[in-house]
Amino acid sequence: MPQDISAVPAANTANIVGAGLSGAVIARVLAEAGHKVTVFESRDHIGGNCHTERDAETGVMLHRYGPHIFHTDSEDVWQFATRFANFKRFHHKVRATSRGKVYPLPVTLATINQFFELALRPDEARAFVAGKADSTINAPRSFEEQAQSMIGNELYEAFFKGYTQKQWGRAPSELPASILKRLPLRFTYEDSYFNHKYQALPENGYTDWIAAILDHPDITVRLKQPFTNQQAQDGEHVFWSGPLDGYFGYSQGRLAYRSLRFENFTGEGDYQGCPVMNFCDADKPYTRVTEHKHFAPWESHDKTVYSVEYPFECGPEDTPYYPVRLVEDKSLLQHYVSQADQTKGVTFVGRLGTYRYLDMDVCIAEALQTAAQFLEAQSTQAPMPAFVHPPL
Ligand code: UDP
Repeated sequence: MPQDISAVPAANTANIVGAGLSGAVIARVLAEAGHKVTVFESRDHIGGNCHTERDAETGVMLHRYGPHIFHTDSEDVWQFATRFANFKRFHHKVRATSRGKVYPLPVTLATINQFFELALRPDEARAFVAGKADSTINAPRSFEEQAQSMIGNELYEAFFKGYTQKQWGRAPSELPASILKRLPLRFTYEDSYFNHKYQALPENGYTDWIAAILDHPDITVRLKQPFTNQQAQDGEHVFWSGPLDGYFGYSQGRLAYRSLRFENFTGEGDYQGCPVMNFCDADKPYTRVTEHKHFAPWESHDKTVYSVEYPFECGPEDTPYYPVRLVEDKSLLQHYVSQADQTKGVTFVGRLGTYRYLDMDVCIAEALQTAAQFLEAQSTQAPMPAFVHPPL
């Protein structure tokens, strides 16, 4: 344990566990409000799973933990984000390979016309897809029902069934409908992956950006410093962005996560012509291939690096990525939420701390709200809750 942790806490100090986006944003807001903040990070780098670094051989900026594209409709989030880096406009385009053919994704008018070998206009396509969709499903209870009620079985089987089974390791009939609701369905040729007003990437990568957020005289970052709940006894408020169950030593078992393994390759020129190619067929063991240099079209590289992504069930030694949140996870989650609610002086934040599938902009928005609530609670002597954004 570092010497200073056991010291008597000074006024207006806080400990933040995790130097990912949630932790960095809270640290910054508190530091600007006059607090001294220590950020404990168990990895040897900041940035959490947004971490980017330049490949030593090719100079290409790599998204080490999979592709991250910043997108938001929130003016507050955009203003905060762009204080710390120059963001370059980037409209993410995904292609999907299904049964040996390549299509644009999400499902657009181009996907529909190409897949069904038609030449429909928007209204015709809307009526055509409505005819394919299962109109008997009014309130979809699963990913599968959501897909069948939205696009019908053929598009579902071609683009979603196999990919989702590989990604989540469960049948889409067991998974929540909310996962599919992340993706738009468009009856135009607009093929951006997202609908948000602001879609951009920080020019020098996410880690530089998060380093700038953390760059404040009253923020100390300690890398390779795991933080345990025993260290939380010293009276300073803790913002915990590590796994919720990890705070309690996994005493009742582990919440389910999917993890990812990447196989990285280096080559010449352009490997696939787009940043992300999804592979939707069940018989391909990987879900997608990311070609990193396409995330920085303002840079020029002769060589290229691409990563083939294999999802798997997260074990104790693996990196948690996606919270699974099935029914059985929710009862275990309920247990840890109750424990957290009884724990004083700790607020659980972010994707791992609240066991939710959060995009980067939501992490920032929630971190800003959490920090504001903490400052308000301090000035009014109100208690700070375990969750500003409850997991359930
Ligand atoms: N999905 C799919 N086929 C695809 C792309 C996505 O079935 O080609 C499903 C899959 O279940 C995935 C979900 O849609 O988990 C959300 O996709 P998104 O691209 O938002 O996932 P992320 O980039 O966060 O992994």
